[in-house]
Amino acid sequence: MRQRIYMETKPGLLVIISGPSGVGKGEVCNMLKKLDSNIITSISVTTRKKRPNEIEGINYFFKTMEEYEALKKSGSFLETFEIYENYYGTPKEFVINNIKNGKDILLEIDIQGALHVMKNYKDTVSVFLAPPDCAVLEQRLRGRNTEDEAAINKRLSAAKEELLTMEKYDYIVINSDIESSAKTIKDIIKSEKFKTLRN
Ligand code: 5GP
Repeated sequence: MRQRIYMETKPGLLVIISGPSGVGKGEVCNMLKKLDSNIITSISVTTRKKRPNEIEGINYFFKTMEEYEALKKSGSFLETFEIYENYYGTPKEFVINNIKNGKDILLEIDIQGALHVMKNYKDTVSVFLAPPDCAVLEQRLRGRNTEDEAAINKRLSAAKEELLTMEKYDYIVINSDIESSAKTIKDIIKSEKFKTLRN
């Protein structure tokens, strides 16, 4: 059978995974990486305080406001936004180098960041991860015990707004089950990569 000679030289895909806080983006992304070793996650930089269960360099790179501003000034971010009074940014160099090397990169980012990346970059596929219903979202946010009541309420009201933007994404996946959502996204990536091979 004839092979595609350029198969290995095609760049990777930038996979945007967005959705309201508490929908389970982190768990789905972890499962996706287990299912496909070509998929890696971009680790964002943030000024948010580290939560007790988080690890520097695994969950985020935690920076002071001054350090963050310096990175922003030097053009180190692919996108950067203020979310819930903290700053978050995607490291540009990491993404570009890995895409060049054929890796598929997961960007687990908020909706403003997602819209920015979709508008400014090619070879992206965007997935909106939606909760089965709002009650599940509230349960998950409360269950993880990482935010106080005011922060939970802020995230819940933001979630209602965010759900209105889902039609702007290439795909909507309803996260009723982590493994099946991850498998669905894995299939989406596979078929999107197939499409780019034909272009
Ligand atoms: P959390 O503080 O709960 O970890 O994240 C809050 C929100 O920020 C989540 O919706 C998460 O997806 C988003 N986020 C994390 N990293 C980035 C980033 O680099 N850029 C943008 N735009 N959003 C991010």
